[in-house]
Amino acid sequence: MKQKEICNDKIGKRNICRLIPRVDSLMEEKEIREMIREYGYNCVLRVVRRTLDELREEIWNGTREEIQDEIREKIRDEIREETKEQIRKSAMERIVENLRKEMRMNLTSVVNGTGIILHTGLGRAPLGEEVLRHAAAVAGGYSNLEFDLETGKRGERCVNFEETVCRVTGAEAALAVNNNAAAMLLILSSLASGGEVIVSRGELVEIGGGFRIPEIMELGGALLREVGTTNRTRPDDYRNAIGEETKALLKVHTSNYRIIGYTQETSLEKLAALGEETGLPVIQDLGSGVLIDLAKYGLAHEPMVQEAVKGGADVVAFSGDKLLGGPQAGIIVGRKKYIDKMKRHPLARALRIDKFTAAALEAVFRQYLDPDRAVERIPALGMLTRPAETVRKDAEKMAARLSAVISAGDASSNRTEADIIVQACVSRAGGGSLPEENIESYAVAVSAPEITAGELAARFRKLDRPVIGRISGEKLLLDMRTIREEEIAYLESVFRDGKILQRDMSPQKKTYPQKNEIRQKDEMPRKEGEQ
Ligand SMILES: *Cc1c(COP(=O)(O)O)cnc(C)c1O
Repeated sequence: MKQKEICNDKIGKRNICRLIPRVDSLMEEKEIREMIREYGYNCVLRVVRRTLDELREEIWNGTREEIQDEIREKIRDEIREETKEQIRKSAMERIVENLRKEMRMNLTSVVNGTGIILHTGLGRAPLGEEVLRHAAAVAGGYSNLEFDLETGKRGERCVNFEETVCRVTGAEAALAVNNNAAAMLLILSSLASGGEVIVSRGELVEIGGGFRIPEIMELGGALLREVGTTNRTRPDDYRNAIGEETKALLKVHTSNYRIIGYTQETSLEKLAALGEETGLPVIQDLGSGVLIDLAKYGLAHEPMVQEAVKGGADVVAFSGDKLLGGPQAGIIVGRKKYIDKMKRHPLARALRIDKFTAAALEAVFRQYLDPDRAVERIPALGMLTRPAETVRKDAEKMAARLSAVISAGDASSNRTEADIIVQACVSRAGGGSLPEENIESYAVAVSAPEITAGELAARFRKLDRPVIGRISGEKLLLDMRTIREEEIAYLESVFRDGKILQRDMSPQKKTYPQKNEIRQKDEMPRKEGEQ
């Protein structure tokens, strides 16, 4: 009860509040002056003011324990110099912390230990070095983005990469927009608006993040004409549905699910023949759009863009940042007459890509001119095709290095023991690609007897450069397939710093696993990396 009385001691509190240093006196501190040089006067001033307000509020609400003691002991208006110093010190510490937090970018690079290569939450495909260098060079200055160097006149945005895209895919013409959802919207709006598009009932796909074929169709002003059944659609189903209103035939790659059992799918070739016979364009939404034969690397064969073009699709759409391994984009390839129509549609302007993407796309497609080189240079493909044995060796190397750091740690420090082992696990392509593929992999599993796996995962997420893992039982798994060589040194520094394994970091607060961690508990990260 005494505590409560003291907390209510307004005079005491008021006196303590009076000890909070003045803004202008703090701004003169050496440490603060250095911050001003780095971050600018106005930024620092704002943080200083905010921090002092916070302190004042905490003292007033009685949430600062160390100051409670002071209040308890103090005779109402006699204040020790010591207390003043203490408050100044704690204000300074808090200012430094607040400034560091405020200056840190919210969108930041993370270490992907989930083993999901195209994790939509983590930004899908990481870009390769050459691609980044080219994009930075183009975007960091002026470029011929829409300027024809031959004529000196206004040019076209997509011509710079169109030729390379056509050479790689075998198509007549190409165009790129913001993403594949946008690509489908542009295709349907320019080719099928006001008419009907025929699609199989087995291909009415929903992709994560609200992309549904029927809805995109409606948005594009086209009427969906569903044919066949969920499991079987024959060529005649399409043929019988063709009428006056029909504007196109659509085939959607069921990228994120499979229908198995008693099934029949009309092949692209058959659909293309029907398109040719009736003069209707055949559109294929490929989803991921892979450009190399994944079967060569022991993975399931994913329909390739080149096959779709060769198979007779008039228009093919696919993502830039799924298995292609490039920047976010929706790439449309196909017959020139249709692509030209799309280029002229007002939506093409609304959905156009920026110079950074245009540069990155050209650089990535150039790498595909030599498929072996593409696998070496495109990070997503490298991770996908890395043999499990290589991943295991890397995991062993990392486990050894982390264990060494831990055992070299200061025994007197407040750090708990930790166990680091290598464990077999399963990686996934993610991004709705190769949904059935269990990619054999190896993880470095971290566990600490005094820290729950959920708490450990939370601590890793709160690092300056967050590390995202996967929980399995009482362990935090860091799947080595998606961790890069240079990130091992960073993880070493994390363990050396020791905060990650600190005992009672927040004793009063137990961190419960969050929703996504519970989901991660599922050893197979099926729903992760929602597209
Ligand atoms: C992923 C996907 C899309 C959406 O592509 P985004 O580039 O994410 O917009 C559309 N269709 C299919 C079949 C997909 O797999």
